[in-house]
Amino acid sequence: MLSKELTYLLEKFLQGDRQLMVLTGAGVSAESGIPTYRGVEGYWTKGSRNYKPEEIGTLRFFQKKPEEVWKFALYRRTICKRAQPNLGHTSIAKLENIFRDRFTLITQNVDGLHLKAGNSDHRTYQIHGDIDHIRCSLNCTRTLYEFPQEIGEKKQGEGLTGAEWELLRCPECDAICRPNVLWFDEFYNERYYRSESALKIAGKTGLLLIVGTMGTTNLPNQIFDTVRFKQGIVVDINLEDNLFSEEIRDSRTGFLLRGKSSELLPQLVDEIRKLRGWQPFEESI
Ligand SMILES: [Zn+2]
Repeated sequence: MLSKELTYLLEKFLQGDRQLMVLTGAGVSAESGIPTYRGVEGYWTKGSRNYKPEEIGTLRFFQKKPEEVWKFALYRRTICKRAQPNLGHTSIAKLENIFRDRFTLITQNVDGLHLKAGNSDHRTYQIHGDIDHIRCSLNCTRTLYEFPQEIGEKKQGEGLTGAEWELLRCPECDAICRPNVLWFDEFYNERYYRSESALKIAGKTGLLLIVGTMGTTNLPNQIFDTVRFKQGIVVDINLEDNLFSEEIRDSRTGFLLRGKSSELLPQLVDEIRKLRGWQPFEESI
């Protein structure tokens, strides 16, 4: 599957000490049955109104109707918790096991499937947050709290009981906590999303694998630009073209692989293992 040019560049990369960064988006988890946030299933009906995720997934909407936002979040959380990692996720976990300290995973997915597949917490940057933490909606403290396990699975539209609602209160100020996810009307920050750290690593990255993302959000774009500026290799693994494709196609160090990530990633891992300059590590996955 690897062209001569890509094989040559990868062998050079293996001999160096620059980072391998994997940048993932909703496409990786779609094969595990998680609807994309902007997909049709993402719509939310309340009474006679259909809310788009861009409306409901906002701080503005939360301030007006926190219970509606939580209902939406809890239903999505239920889908995510039931889902299992696919071969795309497990291949990325294998890459971490192979590259260890040269590996970084940047994911826009909040579903936790990369961690479930075996990627480590400290090398995984969940730049849009995660479903396993909540925090004070008034920012009275910057502490992240574990999602209360007593709140169980929810059907679409199912509300919270009074007792469950109490579990979502901030222990410091009694305000209702919010999901620890980046909403559409908010900006990246280091404290909750490790965005500056992610960008710093992009500056040391010699090989960027883009998997299952359309490139519509700001930080992934900055990461892409940074790696390109430093002449890193970029391999884009997606079903179809995205906002990165044109520039990749025009570049000597950019490569497009079209197809399912659950099929292409296992092949890519196998091919990388066969390259010259390959130093096998002990593997436990
Ligand atoms: Zn508080």
